Amino acid sequence: MVDRDDAACANGPPAPSTLKYTVASKAPAFVAADSEHSVATPAAISVQNLVHRYDGRTALNGISFDVRQAELFGLLGPNGSGKTTLFRILSTLMVPVGGRALILGRDAAREPNALRRQIGVVFQAQSIDLKLTAAENLWHQGHLYGLSGRALKARIYEMLSRVGLADRARDKAETFSGGMQRRLELAKGLLHHPSVLLLDEPTTGLDPGARRDLWQYLQILREQEQVTVIVTTHLMEEAERCDRLAILNEGKIVALGTPAELKHEIGGDVILLEAEEPGVLAERIRARFHLDVQILGGKIRLERENGHRFVTDVVEAFPGEIQAVSISKPTLEDVFIHRTGHRFWTEEDSGKNRTKK
Ligand code: ADP
Repeated sequence: MVDRDDAACANGPPAPSTLKYTVASKAPAFVAADSEHSVATPAAISVQNLVHRYDGRTALNGISFDVRQAELFGLLGPNGSGKTTLFRILSTLMVPVGGRALILGRDAAREPNALRRQIGVVFQAQSIDLKLTAAENLWHQGHLYGLSGRALKARIYEMLSRVGLADRARDKAETFSGGMQRRLELAKGLLHHPSVLLLDEPTTGLDPGARRDLWQYLQILREQEQVTVIVTTHLMEEAERCDRLAILNEGKIVALGTPAELKHEIGGDVILLEAEEPGVLAERIRARFHLDVQILGGKIRLERENGHRFVTDVVEAFPGEIQAVSISKPTLEDVFIHRTGHRFWTEEDSGKNRTKK
């Protein structure tokens, strides 16, 4: 593993300023991720068979995917699935053991300095200085990227307006709410006009309103400015807002596509049954209906077309044994369960409690 110094991300030339909007109150409509137009567009990011290990422990086990230009692409995975490792490689801070990551045609491992001028990175850890004002934070960032004078001043106020902080430019960042600090981080990452923006769990610690604002802003960025955005998240509701996503598990991609495509693949309904002895009843359902049945979180879980009909059948087949029933349309968590056989959230469930057909 080769670690690079975060602080070395510097010295990019200023790009022309063309941005003229603020955060809108209403989320724009999604661009269809797999429309003919976007399929024809060359990939902004191409990850090719990426492998990484820490002291023999595999963190990325041959990951490949492309991100199109102006796409809002999510990396969804539970803790330990490899998101941060992948993020660090893409942001040029770490060199992979194998494979390569091309961003805008440049290899992140071979041309890190040139690439850093073209990408904006917002890390999970705070990088703004709380003792400085919002404008001062951006002023220092601008200098790192070779911006100065009037052009920098104009750019700072433009960015602060875009993230809704223009009226707080002279206030110290320590007086800001968590959401405002996050928006300042975003302004910092975008100051040098990157065409690719990488964000690591950007909504950590934000309340639901601030989360929504941030996602609306990301959608505006890619729609109005054609910025390609990659965002890591462990939150399903955030992943739902991406054009496409890669779902990671144990260093591998277990699903790749639009949220709608991924959920559609399950087909039918997801049924959860509660029973006194779920293990025993699961076996009997399996024997009677010849179905793949799982036990997750103490509940019996099945995927079935026409779930309501199946529920009627199963309740009649085992009278008095089922305590509660729920039928729902598949979620992204169901996609994860479908592909991995275990739940997204609780690690102790991993690999356990599965009854196979
Ligand atoms: P995520 O961001 O999805 O939580 P990570 O990329 O941080 O996943 O971790 C992937 C795997 O690599 C995990 O098994 C984790 O324990 C391991 N790992 C991450 N960083 C290190 C490190 N610095 N040293 C050793 N193992 C690490």
